[in-house]
Amino acid sequence: MNSEVANVITKTISNHDEELRSLSLKIHNNPELGYEEYKASALLADYLEDKGFAVTRGAAGMPTSFIAEFTNGKPGRRVAFCSEYDALPGVGHACGHNIIAISGVACAIAIKALLEQNLLGGSVSLFGTPAEEGGNGKGRFLQNNDFQKRADVALMIHPAPVDSIVGPALAIDSAEIEFFGRSSHAAHFLARAVTRTQLVELKSKLEKCFEAAAVATGCQVKISWLPQGPTEGLCYKQYMEEEGVMFPSPEKASEITSSSSDFGKVSYALPSIQPAYKIQTEGPNHTISFEQAARTKNAHVATLRAARSLAKTAATVLLDSNVYKEALEEFKRGKSQ
Ligand SMILES: [Zn+2]
Ligand SMILES: [Zn+2]
Repeated sequence: MNSEVANVITKTISNHDEELRSLSLKIHNNPELGYEEYKASALLADYLEDKGFAVTRGAAGMPTSFIAEFTNGKPGRRVAFCSEYDALPGVGHACGHNIIAISGVACAIAIKALLEQNLLGGSVSLFGTPAEEGGNGKGRFLQNNDFQKRADVALMIHPAPVDSIVGPALAIDSAEIEFFGRSSHAAHFLARAVTRTQLVELKSKLEKCFEAAAVATGCQVKISWLPQGPTEGLCYKQYMEEEGVMFPSPEKASEITSSSSDFGKVSYALPSIQPAYKIQTEGPNHTISFEQAARTKNAHVATLRAARSLAKTAATVLLDSNVYKEALEEFKRGKSQ
């Protein structure tokens, strides 16, 4: 990646480190349940307005939502990030949405800085999405076409006990299936499951089906699973690895975490990624250990590192037409299955 772009991202996020830490702790100290996040959404909306974003509050009929937007008026692609800020009943911020909130803010101000310095054209928006836990904040934005109107790609990260490119969204692998025999032909195939573990099981079932079909028709079959993951997802992994993060295998990662997210809905509407990033924690998401971990300095540092990588991924999508084209192709393939 262009080193000037990378430097602006790193510098902008580090210049806002203390302010972001303070936003995160304020949200953590005052947990609010889904659709009741009045203080958290106002805190973030005020902050973003102060930073020069055009902020719409109460978007898509949700009093605790917002959309913050910025463009330099130059032609280009449009990226969206998401901030969540709802807590869980009884256990407060046990899903770490206080740090998701600031990861979205960090990414949005980093891309805004690139736009202001005319290092790229296009726009950035940050969606404040209420009620991830059991609600339908992102779904309401989608019904209102808010993502579709404003963004070519959507990105967000989620804290977890493990780094994983698949994240809490759906796991997808694609394969090239070739039949050799009387009438040989090839097909492209996509397997989709909620978790990596389920996907591994699904894949072995599918392989057996294809083999049975080959036997039944007197053909031979060659199944090649293709390298997995959206293109932008792969950039994110690369940027994280450049910062010294080591990813376990997807199978290992899904043993450790298998949370789900309403961001999956967004991934059906436009190309998007939601990697999970590791914070140091004794227990998984939705436990008191995770609630305590989500307010540590350690988790804050991990959050800003993942946010830097996500902002670099977004900048790559904005700058590199080929990366965007590949992401779009992959999205269309996924949708047609
Ligand atoms: Zn959760
Ligand atoms: Zn969550």
